[in-house]
Amino acid sequence: MRLFTCECCKSVLFFDNSRCMSCDQPIGYCAEAAKLVPLPKEQTADVSVEVALPGGKRETFLKCKNFTEHDACNWLVRAEDREPYCLSCRLTEIIPDLSDAKNKQAWAEVESAKRRLLYTLRALRLPVLTKTEDATAGLSFRFLVGTEEAPVLTGHADGLITLNVAEADAAYRENMREKLGEAYRTVLGHLRHEIGHYYWDRLIRDGNRVEAFRALFGDESLSYETAIQRHYGEGPPANWADSYISAYATMHPWEDWAETWAHYLHMLDTLETAKSHGLTVRLPGENERVSTDELTFGDFDGLMAGWQAVTIALNSLSRSMGMKDVYPFVLSKSVRDKLHFVHDVLSDCSGKPLPRVAAPANVAPAAESGAAAPPRAPAALNAPAAAAAPSAVHPSPPAASPAALNAAAAAPAVPAKVKPAVATPQ
Ligand SMILES: [Zn+2]
Ligand SMILES: [Zn+2]
Ligand SMILES: [Zn+2]
Repeated sequence: MRLFTCECCKSVLFFDNSRCMSCDQPIGYCAEAAKLVPLPKEQTADVSVEVALPGGKRETFLKCKNFTEHDACNWLVRAEDREPYCLSCRLTEIIPDLSDAKNKQAWAEVESAKRRLLYTLRALRLPVLTKTEDATAGLSFRFLVGTEEAPVLTGHADGLITLNVAEADAAYRENMREKLGEAYRTVLGHLRHEIGHYYWDRLIRDGNRVEAFRALFGDESLSYETAIQRHYGEGPPANWADSYISAYATMHPWEDWAETWAHYLHMLDTLETAKSHGLTVRLPGENERVSTDELTFGDFDGLMAGWQAVTIALNSLSRSMGMKDVYPFVLSKSVRDKLHFVHDVLSDCSGKPLPRVAAPANVAPAAESGAAAPPRAPAALNAPAAAAAPSAVHPSPPAASPAALNAAAAAPAVPAKVKPAVATPQ
């Protein structure tokens, strides 16, 4: 993620800011222009602002409804879209009951992570379509609160990403991380992983890349249910780190892909941040310095060299603060090859529409990464038809009427307007 500049006082702004900490100017993020823009100081509900888009055209933007009403978003929405919600919020189909302050806090954190995810997808010039725009190939999110009787399983099915909002609670997350023996667990990591499943369907399955995928990741047509049982019954193979980015990736080729994909997005975002800060680091024991300023995001070997130098420095800094490693991973040759594959797929697909094929029903995993034991009745969760039905993912609907809070999905269909992204990290 790059740094931004206040157009009023030239101070540094961060992606999540809704106000300049230096001159107190209210600001909002315009995804179409990939920049933070000053808003009128008079913060009325219908505040509007003209933004110069790449190419010079000026358009009117309004604040996202979740910005105005809940302070849970800092994005703007193009007035012409006639949409109350921004490009990020309109992807969310269900949110928790906001009358509970804890839910509201958790939801805001999850949305913030989702905006960061979308920033990178737009920078990569990957199409992001809502289910309103494309019922088959579109994407939507459900952020749900589970109960003991009706736990929420985080997962992906047919473009629907479900996240248990308890993941926004640091204590819960750390507890789960320990229980599952994970090196690393974050909300952003979950979202990057789940959207990896979505893009597998779009770019690998529909994009005619299954053979190339299998050569590196293995045969994904193997039973997912058997894989779950084996993974939670026997654990990962002892030498998993030789070939996989994480123990979870050993479960099934789909999980290997999603873990690798998420890792690639971690790399890109972190290196873009390093570059934006002008970070130059020396590899321990070597005289050579890596200047992240000079990184080109199209050059995989350059990225990997930068990544090695930056992550070693990151971990050392973290240990100096008495904290555990920020980056608890070691990349084997096999993992690098898989990351290279993700890099090549993304380069190929950048700026192009999603491949369209009449694909068979999705049988990708619907639920995962929260269950210490195999999810109950995985067959039901993964059944192609049932997977898309909310009741299969979340046995009982949330108590509140989230539709009223975020009616994007119910709003009249808006013509698809997927703009090419403008902020390719360089
Ligand atoms: Zn300022
Ligand atoms: Zn929004
Ligand atoms: Zn997964």
